[in-house]
Amino acid sequence: MPHAKRMIVLPSMTPGTQRRIVYHRFGKAGARPKAYLQAAIHANELPGAMALHHLMPMLVEADRRGRIKGEIVVVPTVNPIGLAQLVGNNHLGRYDFLGRDNFNRNWLDLSGAVAERVGRTLGRNAGDNVAKIRAAAAAALAGMKPINELQMLRVAMMKLSIDADVVLDLHCDMEAALHLFISRKDWPGPARMLAADIGAEATLYNDPYPESLTFSGVNGALWARLAERFPAANVPQACLSATIEYRSQHEVNHALGESDARNLYRFLVRRGIVSGRAGKLPRLKADATPMSGMDVGYCPKPGMLVYHVPKGSRVRTGTPVCEVIDPADARGPKARTQIVACTDGILFSRKPDGHLAWPGKVVFRIAGARVLAHRKGMSGLDD
Ligand SMILES: [Zn+2]
Repeated sequence: MPHAKRMIVLPSMTPGTQRRIVYHRFGKAGARPKAYLQAAIHANELPGAMALHHLMPMLVEADRRGRIKGEIVVVPTVNPIGLAQLVGNNHLGRYDFLGRDNFNRNWLDLSGAVAERVGRTLGRNAGDNVAKIRAAAAAALAGMKPINELQMLRVAMMKLSIDADVVLDLHCDMEAALHLFISRKDWPGPARMLAADIGAEATLYNDPYPESLTFSGVNGALWARLAERFPAANVPQACLSATIEYRSQHEVNHALGESDARNLYRFLVRRGIVSGRAGKLPRLKADATPMSGMDVGYCPKPGMLVYHVPKGSRVRTGTPVCEVIDPADARGPKARTQIVACTDGILFSRKPDGHLAWPGKVVFRIAGARVLAHRKGMSGLDD
């Protein structure tokens, strides 16, 4: 069946209101390879939705021509709860107003449920294991009984993603260069292709897989966790699952949307999901670096932020990245506290100039190649 638009209706939370999630299916349900792409789980992050806005007509056309060999599920805006969180003319889409949960945490780690169902039957045949694990994960999800809309959203989207060969969760940062979060298990392999095709300026890997229960984390780590738990069985890393950070919140325009869509399309061709020629792999802009090498700048005191270096800059240890200014201090330069880089690397994420900052607020992130003692064992996803 060609392109179809579908709708998931979430349970009503307050009298007179109900939300729904729209998704699109291209190619044939059940065909392989399968890709799943979603945008705006943090609902005020729309550059990914813009990329999908430009990708979808390309997929409609490819489908019409019979060029989609596998199956592609696209969810242009996955979070109608967050999309509706308007307060005083501001859109706040990162945390759920009801439970205060970050929308991209506490997704479902199905590895325990799958292990219980089929762990003992996993053997040396990777293909058999993949089929068993996917079926057990689907059965675990089918057995869940979500009662509120966020629970339902999580279960419903994982039903669409958990059997995919490629899962791409499209986000952005407040002010950032295009970057990618992946699992070490996928690097270099398919993640290197992804990084090169989309033009990532930094790629950060969790080693061996993300502990945090982000959407892309749980989809990819299912395989890594089972491989770890059943070392005698041959459990492959059957899903390339990545979080793509499409630059800054305000960088939404047709030029970027079009080129991001073209790059995603080329990657889908390269993975054999859409037929055609992907051509030569673009030059990789930056080698992957470990999450434990990511320097995170925290604000030491309250004040207003001003930056010295633009996003995407290469910085060195000791470089002042930004300063926080005490607005009540009359001593001019002495009212300014510098926050410096603690590694050599790429300043891939920062905040906009002029934002208010407070103690402990994350003010920048730097991708460095060297493992940092003070970052070991930290997730880095602390805001
Ligand atoms: Zn996000």
